[in-house]
Amino acid sequence: MEHCKKCNGIGWIFTKSDGADNARQCECKREKSVEFLSKQSNIPNRFSGISFKYGYITNNNESQKMIKTIAQKFVTEYPANDKGLLLQGSVGLGKTTILCIIGNELIKKKNNVYYIDWNDLTRIMGSGEDAGSRDYGKISQLVNKLTSVELLLFDELGASKTSPWVQNYIYYIINKRYNNKLMTLFATNYFDTVSDNNDSLTDRVGDRIRSRLFEITKPVLIRGTDFRLNT
Ligand SMILES: [Zn+2]
Repeated sequence: MEHCKKCNGIGWIFTKSDGADNARQCECKREKSVEFLSKQSNIPNRFSGISFKYGYITNNNESQKMIKTIAQKFVTEYPANDKGLLLQGSVGLGKTTILCIIGNELIKKKNNVYYIDWNDLTRIMGSGEDAGSRDYGKISQLVNKLTSVELLLFDELGASKTSPWVQNYIYYIINKRYNNKLMTLFATNYFDTVSDNNDSLTDRVGDRIRSRLFEITKPVLIRGTDFRLNT
């Protein structure tokens, strides 16, 4: 893939004036078509092209209206948002849908977006007993992609238990994106406060990743049909 020297391939040029961060789109962005950006985004076919007009999100449920507002605000403010989002909610509440809608809306505005699912990532990285057959070429190619893409949609965070080696690598990806001022949106089925013997998010991803998430994302708690913004 070609690498624009003006923006280092990120697609945005960041400047500071009067102490405030500003971002403007680089010329190289205009050359890419929405279709091209959509194809290379890795957004699952099921969610490809769906927008805020999608039925799920336009019913009369108050909590869904709230999550829609949060998502729309994110799209409108992008890339000047101070933080990414961490969508935390049980299975089946449409977190992937919301993640992909935000991605699709930003692709329409010619942004580079990439979707990754924790299970695919940890499988490629060869977690646990697969360690002997790791394809390091493939891993480094993917890690390069994930550390450099403008906006990363990181779904199913902590969906499976993984080895410390893989966890360290994932921390590296998240941290490198943070250092490069690149935004990441996360979705997870795990919460910080749990009852009984259920795993918390920290149990699934480790302390280092969890504490980095605190710094770089705004948590959006989704419980049942009650969506609440926790800030
Ligand atoms: Zn450029």
